[in-house]
Amino acid sequence: APPLLLPFAEATYVRDLAGLFVAWEADAAPAPELLVLNDALVRVLGGDPDALRTPAGVGLLLGSGLPDGHPTVAQGYAGHQFGGWSPRLGDGRALLLGEVIDAGGVRRDVHLKGSGRTPFARGGDGKAAVGPMLREHLVSEAMHALGVPTTRALAVVATGETVRRETPLPGAVLARVAASHLRVGTFQYVAATLRDGDLLRRLAEHAIARHHPDAAAADRPALALLDAVVAAQAALIARWMHVGFVHGVMNTDNMTISGETIDYGPCAFMDAYDPGTVFSSIDHGGRYAYGSQPAVAQWNLARLAEALLPLIGDDQESAVAAVMPVLEAFPDRFAAAWRDGMHAKLGLADGPGDEESLVDGLLTLLGDHDADWTSAFRALAGYARGDGDALTGVVAAPAAFADWLRRWTALGPDPDAMDRVNPLYIPRNHLVEDALAQATAGDLGPYRRLLDAVTRPFEARAGLEAYARPSGDGGDVYVTYC
Ligand code: AMP
Ligand code: MG
Ligand code: MG
Repeated sequence: APPLLLPFAEATYVRDLAGLFVAWEADAAPAPELLVLNDALVRVLGGDPDALRTPAGVGLLLGSGLPDGHPTVAQGYAGHQFGGWSPRLGDGRALLLGEVIDAGGVRRDVHLKGSGRTPFARGGDGKAAVGPMLREHLVSEAMHALGVPTTRALAVVATGETVRRETPLPGAVLARVAASHLRVGTFQYVAATLRDGDLLRRLAEHAIARHHPDAAAADRPALALLDAVVAAQAALIARWMHVGFVHGVMNTDNMTISGETIDYGPCAFMDAYDPGTVFSSIDHGGRYAYGSQPAVAQWNLARLAEALLPLIGDDQESAVAAVMPVLEAFPDRFAAAWRDGMHAKLGLADGPGDEESLVDGLLTLLGDHDADWTSAFRALAGYARGDGDALTGVVAAPAAFADWLRRWTALGPDPDAMDRVNPLYIPRNHLVEDALAQATAGDLGPYRRLLDAVTRPFEARAGLEAYARPSGDGGDVYVTYC
């Protein structure tokens, strides 16, 4: 028998959602070279890493050699980008290869990014460069290791082509794995661009079956779907913020129905705590700043609610009346998820009622004293273990924390529990830039070492001290580009 590359299952998106895709094929690559393969994820998908390293396997990671009658497709979607409506975005440079049932019984999309122009490409060249694709691989796998729901990275293959950006760059294709690629913008495309009521019903049924099956039994399944997405996104944004993550481009086409993080473009991790932190060069108004993420998520979910209205009530007025309380529940759901995670970061299982002000008090202190977000929580665990100097060198004026530390330690924090949820190693901006620059120049060594550090983020390891430190020059001057 030929080696098992990936065991594709029935393609349910193609089966259920005629009208939401165009059958399309990936461009051929002149000189493919596998740069990174995620062996553990290959195994979760029931594939064989050695087989994927063969020319046939690398070919599959570029979209060739799929079984006959198994169409690869570009998906249609719309979206609000920085608040402005785009009726037709779609996969301009991406393809859905197929679906695989993973070891946990979960259906996963296998998808390519950078595989060439599609009918949705508009002005773009359909290509991607090595640096940004390695960046998505690294950051999405770091997020997964941090316990944050996310699309994952299966492989990056260099194509041997030159991609023209500001400078000529080596081209690459990322193979990405996701619970699905259904987005808020997918619903917007059907409801507002295609205005197809039958397809909208099929899309909601598909999304419910795939991601939120309990909603099927509700009186109004589409309303229950909205409720489930609101809950998943409230939890997700809280998880981002616990680890200092700034997504950077929370357009409605970059928000999933599954509740996974998607689209690692201009994202970055905050160093010093500041709710106004922005990294993206195109986010001039700070729309997607660290502290604005909950409000933006709620705005995006309101766009999902609008798209679902025809399925929720016979008339607009009763449908709006039904969705409003679901949308209005977002802030409380986010606040509860944020509070629970902050208590875990502070080693408090279920302490007495004063912890709300304890969290806010800490945020004020961290902001006032230029504390590195990630280092501060590991330092606090050290303090809870009895190291009175643990905050020295981490916050500018440890003495200012004395009152707060007294209140907190009186609650009996568990430092071992803290070390299980507060990472040592995150994809720090200066380390990522350095590793990507060297990888683009042909040396993957620094990239591999950084990937190893951030995919085992909690466990202190000798020789990795430099990965645990913020950059010396204050992280907020860092700028990301899409
Ligand atoms: P993104 O910024 O990745 O969320 O993409 C937004 C839209 O632009 C989607 O329709 C993408 O498919 C499209 N797009 C981004 N980059 C390219 C490119 N190089 N070529 C064609 N389409 C692109
Ligand atoms: Mg996108
Ligand atoms: Mg992008």
